[in-house]
Amino acid sequence: MASKVRLYVDHPLGVGQSVPLSREQAHYLFGVMRLGEGAVLSLINGAHGEWGAEVVKAGRKGGILLCQVQTAPLQMPPDLWLLFAPIRKERTAFIVEKAVEMGASRVMPVQTDFTQSANRIRQDKLQAHAIEAAEQCGGTFAPPVDDLAKLDRVLKDWPTDRQLMFCDELLIGDPVTLPDTQGPWAILIGPEGGFSPAERDRLRGLDYAHAVSLGPRILRADTAAVAALTIWQQALGDW
Ligand code: SAM
Repeated sequence: MASKVRLYVDHPLGVGQSVPLSREQAHYLFGVMRLGEGAVLSLINGAHGEWGAEVVKAGRKGGILLCQVQTAPLQMPPDLWLLFAPIRKERTAFIVEKAVEMGASRVMPVQTDFTQSANRIRQDKLQAHAIEAAEQCGGTFAPPVDDLAKLDRVLKDWPTDRQLMFCDELLIGDPVTLPDTQGPWAILIGPEGGFSPAERDRLRGLDYAHAVSLGPRILRADTAAVAALTIWQQALGDW
């Protein structure tokens, strides 16, 4: 009987492929989820879709799973990056989790002029949040989470074929419109303090950037990320 357990593994998946488990994975499957030999769970690795796999060896320090059959093909999200200025730790984790559930293909924390310096990030922990969100939401892909980078730097190397949905809080109350341009996109959400005038001038001068309102009220940065992802997905994405 297949369990509802889904596990992201950093290992190839395919018919007859055996997958060794780390100590932590063994603890999760056999200690926390109480699975034993013969149980079947779902594996994803971000590249080969979802596979049903049987527990062939269960131990305290490790174990082995055997892939049996592909249960879902790889489903990539649209080519949509989410750039956001880090806010308080747990709310930054929330933004990463929603980015996965709502179909971003890359998550890029960016340091803007008004980003509070206390808002450091741990890239490894945020990547783990992204993987957990993929396991939980039934996805077969977990987007890479970049380390914190200065917005200036990111824009300097910007791929010019990628449109940028610049969520500008000064447009509060304007109609919410997005150009009907297919292809690679990115969303940019500012910090609690919003964008500096210099940043706004620079962004507005970029021909691939489109300043967008997110409605008549000021949204918290984490709410804004969810709103922007929804607007983009509904207009141009895979929803
Ligand atoms: N400190 C700013 C102020 O009070 O005007 C608010 C910044 S808001 C908390 C954080 C980010 O969410 C903004 O930089 C922007 O990217 C986005 N945002 C929030 N509300 C928005 C709106 N109504 N329209 C466009 N962007 C919005």
